[in-house]
Amino acid sequence: MKYKFVSGSLDETHTFAKELGSQLRGGEIIQLIGDIGAGKTTFVRGLAEGIGSVDHVSSPTFTVCNIYKGRIDMYHCDFYRLNDDKLIEKEIAELIDGESVLVLEWADKLAVIKQLDQMIVDIKVNADDSRVFDVGTSDSYNYISL
Ligand code: ADP
Ligand code: MG
Repeated sequence: MKYKFVSGSLDETHTFAKELGSQLRGGEIIQLIGDIGAGKTTFVRGLAEGIGSVDHVSSPTFTVCNIYKGRIDMYHCDFYRLNDDKLIEKEIAELIDGESVLVLEWADKLAVIKQLDQMIVDIKVNADDSRVFDVGTSDSYNYISL
């Protein structure tokens, strides 16, 4: 499935992500793609609210993975500082439990991850500062409708 969403503000991004979060059942893998400042962390804040979490969402640049607890658990990982693909694959394999949501930043180049059922959220910044969200999902995520 493919979706396109244009967000004109931080609030619109938050609302969009919260709606998606509310539809998650657990076990989904979400790959977030976007330059620094695109809105990845803002998007994850909405997702966290959507899974019913009140945990603080911050960029896991130094912690690698954060966990947010809600009606389902969500791991939020940023592999920007890890240059070892094997290590990243191992880390991700350890987190996949079929119940938790995995939100991954900077893992989209890994061949092993590309084979998994997943949702890809690609955020681009327009010249007018609006954001374009290009979302693509595996067929198995057909219960999600945006
Ligand atoms: P990233 O995690 O990708 O580096 P952040 O979510 O931390 O990005 O920051 C995004 C920045 O862009 C914030 O300062 C936010 O206020 C700003 N912004 C402007 N317009 C939008 C929008 N439509 N959606 C999300 N963020 C936006
Ligand atoms: Mg961030």
